[in-house]
Amino acid sequence: MTKTKYLIIGNSVAAVAAVSGIRQVDADGDITLISRETQHTYSRPLITYLLGGKVGEEQMAYRPADWYEKSGVNTMLGTEVTHVDPEAHTVDTAGGQTIGYEKLLIAVGGTPIVPRDVQGADAEGVFTFTTMDDADAIANYIEEREVRSAIVVGGGLIGLKSVEALIELGISTTVVELADRMLSATFDETASTLAQRRLARAGVEVRTSTTVAELLSENGRVVGAKLTDGETLPCELLIFAIGVLPATGIVQGSGIDSDRGIIVDDGMRTSAEDVYAAGDVAQARALLCGTNRCIAIFPNAYRQGIVAGRNMAGAEAQWEGGLVMNSVTIVDLPTISVGVTEALGEGYEELSQLNEVALSYRKLVLHEGRIVGAVFVGDIDRAGIITGLIRERIDVSEIRDVLMSDDFGLISLPAAYRERVLSGTVNRR
Ligand SMILES: Cc1cc2nc3c(=O)[nH]c(=O)nc-3n(C[C@H](O)[C@H](O)[C@H](O)COP(=O)(O)OP(=O)(O)OC[C@H]3O[C@@H](n4cnc5c(N)ncnc54)[C@H](O)[C@@H]3O)c2cc1C
Repeated sequence: MTKTKYLIIGNSVAAVAAVSGIRQVDADGDITLISRETQHTYSRPLITYLLGGKVGEEQMAYRPADWYEKSGVNTMLGTEVTHVDPEAHTVDTAGGQTIGYEKLLIAVGGTPIVPRDVQGADAEGVFTFTTMDDADAIANYIEEREVRSAIVVGGGLIGLKSVEALIELGISTTVVELADRMLSATFDETASTLAQRRLARAGVEVRTSTTVAELLSENGRVVGAKLTDGETLPCELLIFAIGVLPATGIVQGSGIDSDRGIIVDDGMRTSAEDVYAAGDVAQARALLCGTNRCIAIFPNAYRQGIVAGRNMAGAEAQWEGGLVMNSVTIVDLPTISVGVTEALGEGYEELSQLNEVALSYRKLVLHEGRIVGAVFVGDIDRAGIITGLIRERIDVSEIRDVLMSDDFGLISLPAAYRERVLSGTVNRR
């Protein structure tokens, strides 16, 4: 029998999971993996700790050094794909190569947004923060220029991840956020306030309802930023963390359907035959609303990669739907938000508990007897159980009154669901 020729574009969570998915079904097929980045597969969220000096490059690996070899994967690292041609079953690279495939996975993640219309955005000392190369470049710049002050533009997840590293390095940091509060996409107002308070205690200033209008430079190097509210802030380093867009560029003009991301069905199939997409680049079905959305988080990328890989190899795997979930530690304050974090109108109910002094907060959002979202700040102990109830869409009407109690736990769950949890038949994702 001839071997199937698999091609994977990407070398991160979704790509690695897809290799596992393929190998669960097909031990012999030829797998080639192409990645623009030159590094061995690494864990992207760890770039915070790399920049902060808490981990070295050798601890960044997402899989052991011999993983490609043991998984039978040929790698083409440092190779950028520029175009996909589904009709010819080929991809083109920036180096002028054309590579054929029988089954293709696009797992190229996202591209950080840099506002090119902001004057001075091309100055030295201006960075984004999504790759190991970014972390290395920022670390080198800080060392060479003896940087003591920084501005982080954007108070979302990636902004906070860079702030965490800058705090570790003792750099005086100001966050500039266009919305009226930080983490507005994933937190409710109370949680944002607590997060800002924790940052303030760590010496981080947060400017909200404003953004950078122009960057100031001297000798080609950034020295400050003019804000839209008229104020000017000095800085020696500036990081843009204003969002990441799914990297759909390689499918432009290919006929593959894309919207914000590449549109996929529950088998991670794109609109083109034999072409799959997974991870941050994919626009797949969301669990709670049922429509296709890009939910750019690690666990979704992993699970989508497995589904894609298995299906590429001929199995029948189904995507169970993505859940928005963010877990971020703000200095030393653990936080988790899941699903809908604010009542969306009639029929919604919110249950919450707040201890402002301890910076501790728990909130559940309910809709028609089910929990559809939660926010945890400080006290995250029950986040796993609650996430399970959300994911499995368990009717919690009969346990509503104990949901917020301090001793809420496995024993409080509806009996039939508890049996499933204890017998391991609930997928603990
Ligand atoms: C600083 C930071 C912290 C984060 N923290 C968390 C967290 O705490 N929890 C969480 O759930 N998520 C977190 N995330 C998000 C998480 O890292 C992503 O959801 C995840 O990495 C997505 O995986 P992916 O495989 O889809 O794509 P990516 O990890 O983006 O990888 C894309 C791959 O494609 C390659 N590639 C891209 N374009 C091309 C091309 N044209 N040709 C060839 N190769 C290409 C890249 O080199 C790379 O290997 C964080 C992200 C960042 C940046």
